[in-house]
Amino acid sequence: MKKYKELKELWDWLDFCAWVGNWKKANETSNKIDEIAKVIKLLISLPVYFIHFRCAIMYDKDELKNSLTIEQIFDLVTDLGGEPIMKDGYFVSRTICHNPPGTGSYKLYYYDNTKLFKCFTECSDTFDVYELVCKINNLRNDDNSYQLFKAILYILKYFNIANENFDFSDQQELLGDWNILNKYDENNSIRLQQIVDLKVYDESILKNLPHPIIEPWEAEGIDRNVMSRHKIAYDPAAQGIVIPHYDMSGNLIGIRERTLVQELEIYGKYRPAILNGKMYNHPLSFNLYNLNNSKDNIKALKKAIIGEGEKFCMMYASYFGLDNDISVACCGSALIWYQVQLLLSLDVEEIIVAFDKQFKEIGDDEFKRWVKKLTDIYNKYNKYVTVSFLFDKWNLLGYKDSPIDKGKDIFLELCNRRIYL
Ligand SMILES: [Zn+2]
Repeated sequence: MKKYKELKELWDWLDFCAWVGNWKKANETSNKIDEIAKVIKLLISLPVYFIHFRCAIMYDKDELKNSLTIEQIFDLVTDLGGEPIMKDGYFVSRTICHNPPGTGSYKLYYYDNTKLFKCFTECSDTFDVYELVCKINNLRNDDNSYQLFKAILYILKYFNIANENFDFSDQQELLGDWNILNKYDENNSIRLQQIVDLKVYDESILKNLPHPIIEPWEAEGIDRNVMSRHKIAYDPAAQGIVIPHYDMSGNLIGIRERTLVQELEIYGKYRPAILNGKMYNHPLSFNLYNLNNSKDNIKALKKAIIGEGEKFCMMYASYFGLDNDISVACCGSALIWYQVQLLLSLDVEEIIVAFDKQFKEIGDDEFKRWVKKLTDIYNKYNKYVTVSFLFDKWNLLGYKDSPIDKGKDIFLELCNRRIYL
């Protein structure tokens, strides 16, 4: 019985580690759970639990949150009994954060630009969608047991983002037996691949879109051939540049759109495309943009260069040629373990991080935060691969510029002077 108690405590601890994002501790803890579980032969929920855990690790919670449209959050709040009313760029709902569904006054606001709720009565605070889910569940159960980790899983499941092959239902947690465990052990090494088999979209949607020359991009130096290799298209309905995302094997796994309507930029310049009423979203951190094009070169050269946005890759190929393209984009400034593993699977020896310049002056607060962030990336991955950084100490770039924005020469200069910590 003591072991069961220990296991329960470890699970809670694992929850906590995942919650604070300490994956190292979380991994250590999951190993401990594994050991104890084998000793006491209790394996009921273990495999499923691990899958949950891995899944949550795979997703960057902020990325996930930011990828959700106001319409999606509206639907969720409707289902949670908020009876929301849509306004322009926000909606207002009953205060389900501290009242039972369908009661409460219309004092809970959701703003799409910040992706935050604000409750103007009891809670009088802002919180995100995960916290709303926690609040509602804890209100219902009258305790505090529902934590962020569960809320992430709930959101993944609700929006059907998690792999459909896995059933997250609670019943399954009770079903497990040795067979499941054995299977689990066999699959242990390929676990990662299983979890991140993303939904593949039908490519025919792209064929119906016009593929004009995107003049603003051409003016910035992106070559027409590169745009056509990237299957860039135009969405006349939403007036946006359509950017298909492929996985390493060339499956269409998502489509993003860069709006050309300035007023819509407050919702984010880049958003999941909605074509014929269907949203083509995907978890960005499960993939590296352009790896389908650059993987052979990366394999040959054993080096990859990671930028933030899709345009980084297109400019890289425009300057250096498709045959020399070793670029990928992580579509954000977070580099997660899964993405590094994708590169390690190609036997890379060096990963060159070429993120946008996130500071105005050397030594300012942003500079310090930025250095810390890059140092964290280094510390996390340098055991596995050489990690170097394009870092503009010489003020060659403007604030928030990508290292490639100021042309080929400056980019090469920054490459040659790249930093090895
Ligand atoms: Zn409230």
